[in-house]
Amino acid sequence: MASPDPAAALLALDRTHVWHPYASMNDPAPTRLVTGASGAHLELADAGRVVDGMSSWWAAIHGYRHPALDAALRSRVDEFAHVMFGGLTHEPAVRLAARLVEVAPDGLERVFLADSGSVSVEVALKMVLQAQRGRGRPERTRLLTVRGGYHGDTFGAMAVCDPVGGMHTMFRDVLPEHVFADRPPAPGDAAAVERWSQSFRALASAHAHELAAIVVEPLLQGAGGMHVYDAACLRVMREVADEHGLFLVLDEIATGFGRTGTFFAAEAAGVSPDVLCVGKALTGGYLTLAAVLCTDGVARDLSASESGVLMHGPTFMGNPLACAVALASLDVLATGAWRADVARIGSGLATGLAGCRGLPGVADVRTLGAVGVVQLDHPVDTGKATQAALDEGVWLRPFRDLVYTMPPYVCTDDDVARICAGVAAAAAVA
Ligand SMILES: *Cc1c(COP(=O)(O)O)cnc(C)c1O
Repeated sequence: MASPDPAAALLALDRTHVWHPYASMNDPAPTRLVTGASGAHLELADAGRVVDGMSSWWAAIHGYRHPALDAALRSRVDEFAHVMFGGLTHEPAVRLAARLVEVAPDGLERVFLADSGSVSVEVALKMVLQAQRGRGRPERTRLLTVRGGYHGDTFGAMAVCDPVGGMHTMFRDVLPEHVFADRPPAPGDAAAVERWSQSFRALASAHAHELAAIVVEPLLQGAGGMHVYDAACLRVMREVADEHGLFLVLDEIATGFGRTGTFFAAEAAGVSPDVLCVGKALTGGYLTLAAVLCTDGVARDLSASESGVLMHGPTFMGNPLACAVALASLDVLATGAWRADVARIGSGLATGLAGCRGLPGVADVRTLGAVGVVQLDHPVDTGKATQAALDEGVWLRPFRDLVYTMPPYVCTDDDVARICAGVAAAAAVA
């Protein structure tokens, strides 16, 4: 029977036809209808105006309907929306690549524009495998990574995600087997760092002959568990890579563009990678776009492989709309205001979440930059926890044993306080 309520009708169609991320069609979890978004707020059909504690999966760093990003997109649409990138180029892509080289750690000079974070990881893996071939080391086909990582949902990326999750178990027969070191320890425990470093070095030398690269998220592991680790471990990875002729691939898809307090997380460790993946906040959360930057050395080695070219080229490579909005986002970041915002939000989260420490069911509370995490000692009931946060006027998406927030940088102090109340309420759900 047709519903007289248009929101209910849309949600009924949604339940019938639309996949959502990691969702069941047999038993669909509730989804909420967004009717508007501006600044740090979402407008939900059933819950009204709420603060967005997720930045739309960490991407919408400047909030929604940012005037500069809106304007960039509008004016680009009047030029042309897309052209193929094979044999053709255009100003937004060229300017974006040049800007990324400017803001990236030293030495990263070659830019591949990809459609999404996962695809950029696939491209990065092809780069290092081809570069090893170009160096005359075709037997170096495995990757060294750490437990607890997340690099995307496509097959190459999945193979370097935490092996304990469901993806590895289910796809064991089709995934290449890479080499997993222990998760690097949390900051500040010198003895734990030393133990980890020794075992990482030992594992790397045992497998060096077959390894192409080290692939990790720097300092903050995101979807694999919101784990913060000691910067010294990243420096060890850089040393080990150099010692054994491995490339260091840093996945800054979650951490890039100021989220952890420095423009790129690796800066805080003083580490420069050979290959860098960026995505998510690259377009300020407006359109799907990612990029892979590599050194001239990687580009030369790769180009000496038997194909002579990088074997990748997506249909929507370098989409001008996405590039234009990414440039506008980088312009907003270039004002430097993000630094103060991230610090302000970080201290608001540290203060506001401190009260969760010691609550029943709470195992740990941690913050890094504009990231706040409450880890429980039990799996979260996502449906109930989401509702509890909404009752406080906050949109969150807890997962596993984690209630966390990555707010847009435009959040006011009041928004941050509200988010903390939402996180506490979600964490208190039994
Ligand atoms: C989200 C994420 C990806 C995957 O990006 P998609 O755009 O979702 O494909 C890869 N690596 C990290 C660290 C991420 O956070």
